[in-house]
Amino acid sequence: MSTPREFTPSDAAPRDFTGLAALVTGGASGIGAATAGLLVARGARVAVLDRDVKGAPHGTLALAADVTDDAAVREAVDRAAREFGALHTLVSNAGIGATGTVEDNDDAEWHRVLDVNVLGMVRTARHALPHLRRAARERPGHVSVTHTCSIAATAGLPQRALYSAAKGAVLSLTLAMAADHVAEGIRVNCVNPGTADTPWVARLLAGAEDPQAERAALRARQPMGRLVTADEVAAAIAYLASTAASSVTGTALAVDGGMQGLRPRPT
Ligand code: NAD
Repeated sequence: MSTPREFTPSDAAPRDFTGLAALVTGGASGIGAATAGLLVARGARVAVLDRDVKGAPHGTLALAADVTDDAAVREAVDRAAREFGALHTLVSNAGIGATGTVEDNDDAEWHRVLDVNVLGMVRTARHALPHLRRAARERPGHVSVTHTCSIAATAGLPQRALYSAAKGAVLSLTLAMAADHVAEGIRVNCVNPGTADTPWVARLLAGAEDPQAERAALRARQPMGRLVTADEVAAAIAYLASTAASSVTGTALAVDGGMQGLRPRPT
């Protein structure tokens, strides 16, 4: 077996993904699509794994798969690695929302949401890791997993019991994976967005009794007084996945208009 190459931070051009191959789950809408588009713009070859690939950004390899289907995930991950010859960057982002208190969702709903939001990331990681491990030996310092978690994992939001529990699991999974794979040269981090202006939030608002008032309430709970944009979350994901973050692993980066760290602004 050849001696593993070593990474020196000065070897790498921060934020440049030329020659790297990425897979973004949920990459056909919102935060995932913004991330896939940004990685393409920075020179990566990017595969989008999504259950509905219609919105996959131009220049990406669209792979239709549902993250609840283990065989389909394996096939899509292997296909991306085969087409690109390697896989360096995994962005595990596919997720769905859930509202209510613990009294509002039955077991079936808990299983459905955890299956997508938690097990979806577990399956994707399980099938991507053999490829990532190989890539880390060939391009040390350039291999990472980034999960899209949520401020709900840490903030105690009302009416989000199931969603928060799922994202809490994603946060713990991120830390555990970071520990398991640090010696292999694979960094694992997550972003914790606040409320981001994506098609998901548009759907949430469309279903509200008073969408204008609901949007104002969502804005008001973020100290910056506005929603986060998908591009802002994508920039944070691209940072964590880049060699600019070559010493960063086991971290949750909040992109939340100050929601986690600051008191709400007085009204
Ligand atoms: P979105 O609905 O715009 O995009 C989600 C994408 O995931 C869609 O393309 C959808 O088809 C795909 N997807 C959903 N279930 C899937 C499945 N079972 N298999 C494969 N693909 C699936 O939503 P978004 O706002 O961009 O959310 C992306 C991620 O960001 C999610 O994990 C979400 O929990 C997280 N997040 C969003 C916000 C927000 O306010 N928008 C805040 C915090 C965290």
